Parts: sequence; structure tokens; C-alpha cells
Amino acid sequence: MGRSVYLDYNATQPIRPEARDAMLAALAEPSNASSIHRHGQEARRLVEDARVEVAALIGAAPGDIIFTSGATEANATALNGLGADRLLVSAVEHPSVAKAAKCIETVAVDRHGVLDLEALDRQLGAGGRALVSLMLVNNETGIIQPVAEAARITHAHGALLHSDAVQAGGRIPVDVDRLGVDLLTLSGHKIGGPQGVGALYVRSGLELTPLLRGGGQEGRRRAGTENVAAIAGFGAAARATLADLGRMSDLAALRDGMEAKLRAIAPDLVIHGMERPRIANTSCFGASGLPAETALIALDLAGISVSSGAACSSGAVEPSSVLLAMGLAETAAREAIRVSFGWATEAEDLDRLVESWSLVYRRTRAVAATAA
Ligand code: PMP
Repeated sequence: MGRSVYLDYNATQPIRPEARDAMLAALAEPSNASSIHRHGQEARRLVEDARVEVAALIGAAPGDIIFTSGATEANATALNGLGADRLLVSAVEHPSVAKAAKCIETVAVDRHGVLDLEALDRQLGAGGRALVSLMLVNNETGIIQPVAEAARITHAHGALLHSDAVQAGGRIPVDVDRLGVDLLTLSGHKIGGPQGVGALYVRSGLELTPLLRGGGQEGRRRAGTENVAAIAGFGAAARATLADLGRMSDLAALRDGMEAKLRAIAPDLVIHGMERPRIANTSCFGASGLPAETALIALDLAGISVSSGAACSSGAVEPSSVLLAMGLAETAAREAIRVSFGWATEAEDLDRLVESWSLVYRRTRAVAATAA
């Protein structure tokens, strides 16, 4: 079978060596960042250094970063912590946004999966103290949303905008001021850091009601002892991923090469979102008559890990809600697989994917021809 090939970076990235080293070093000593003694002071230093690194990834001031247990908590804090009486979210958000509160209104996307800005403007026109949530990069298709334009429209209505930038951080330049966002979410394990740690950027001056109350950690905005080792790993990953940003054009070339080879094998291949700006590390595609599950199992047997739809929902055999929101028929949505890669991916990994996928594609076509 050869070396196993991991192409599911949007579900979780392999941990970067810098992050692992930082975590192991942090774990060597007892560390509660609220303690007064020298162990506590050292833990505090690790947390504050990481805050600087994570803030640098998105052009924010360190004081505007709150560490959380992950993006799910950061999203829940953003959507529930501002006292908004209307929550408008795009139809392609991750469930941690789409299901963060009751009474969420969705804003449609077009057939490419891009937010309908006119619909947003119209819906905001109905009034109320609204919060809009629009992801920067979609986890399934890699589509980049027009967040800066959405922020301008949102602010013109006196409302606030939150962006789930989990799949964007470290992969495209992200700058909170240039985007004009009021709140923004990041996740440790999507940038090569550990799982179970995330961050919420909150523009200074915004009053946030904490989701978790109790101790005075994180400037009284998130109670609970800081996960010092995970935060240190998150900070190291943020620094490493920022230094790596220039490599994204190499990844775009790898992705384009892979897609060209797949299309040469399967002229009927549909690549979702390819006509709009997409992130370099993601490709979501399908061929008619080849169910995603069949492709996934065949690839897995060949030692290649990819995903169908979002990892969080792929336990259940449900078509991707993102692709359905883009207007795809259920059958086509059930045929889409997602290949996502990153810092440790080599050209050979994508060649292995193309080779194994072509085998299952040709087999399916041969079976269909015999049956016809
Ligand atoms: N938002 C997006 C876009 C995601 O892809 C994910 C992870 N699948 C999350 C939020 C949740 O992140 P976490 O695992 O840190 O809670």
C-alpha cells in the first residue's frame, strides 16, 4: 500500500513540530496562569506570548484576543454574547454557527456558494439590533466569502459582523481591520496546532457577555483555567503558519495540477465552486454515478484519507447542506468528495490520490457500461 496519505486538512491538520515542541515544554511544569508564584508567572508568560502570535496572524491587538476551548465555543460566544435580537447567518455556515442559537435567520448563497449581498442588505433592512455571521472560507468548497463587502453593508445598517475564519487563518492573509469585522473566530487544530483550543477576536470597545462565567480569566470574558499547553501550541502554530503563507501559491499549483489530471480522466467531473475565488488547499469534486461513499472507501483501502462533506456530519449519511444550499440536486451532493491539504503535503501525495481515484472511477464506469 505504501505510505499513508492524509488529505483531510480541513477536518484537522497534522500537528506542526513547532507546536508539539511548545506543548511538551509547557507540560513539563505545573502551570496555572492565574497563580502568583513563579510557576504561575511562567505560565502567564506562555499564554501572553501565544496571544501575541495569534493576534499577529489576523492583524489584531493582543488584548482583543480571547482564548477558548475551540472554534465551536468562540462561535457560540460571538453569537450569544452581544445581546443581538436578530442573528443572520449565511446558508453555508458550519453547524457551530448555524446551530449556535435559536431563531437564526439564514441568508442565501448563489450557485457558487457565495453570499447574496443584496439579500443580506434586504434582510438587514427589516431592522432590529442584528449580528451577521459570515465565514471567511467555506470548509467544504474552499470558497472565499465577500466578508469586507458584507461588513460594509452590515455596518451601514448599524449592525455588527462576526466571521468564522477557521479555514482562512494561515492560508490567506487575514486582517481584521481590512475586513472590517467586529468579531472573528480561529481554531488551533486547523492551523497545525492542537485540538481543544481556539480564539475569539473581539474589537476593542465591544461589550461581550461571557458564555462561561466564574473566574476572572481572559479579562473576565471567558472563565476557566487557561489550557496553557494547548495555548502555547496554538501560538507556535500561528507563528509557523504565518511564516509559511508564501507557500500557498505552491499549493494552488498542486491543486490545479491535480484537478487538471482528474478532468482528463473524467471529463464529466464537477468541481464545486471552481468559478469563484477559492482557497488553494481545497478541492471539492464529484463524478456522476460515483457515490462519495464508494470513492471514500476505495481511497481509504488504498491508504488515502479524504472526506465527503464536513467531517462533523460525515458520520451520518446525509448530503452536504453546503452543496444543497448551492442548489445541487441530492444525488450530486452525495457524490462530492473533499480533498484538502497543507503544510506537509507533497506532489506525490496528490498523484497517489489521482491514481487511486481513477481506478475507482473507471471501475464504476465499466460496471455501468456492462449493466447498460
Ligand atoms: N468552523 C468551521 C468552518 C470549521 O471547519 C470547524 C471545524 N470543522 C469549526 C468551526 C469548529 O472548530 P473546533 O473543532 O475548533 O470547534
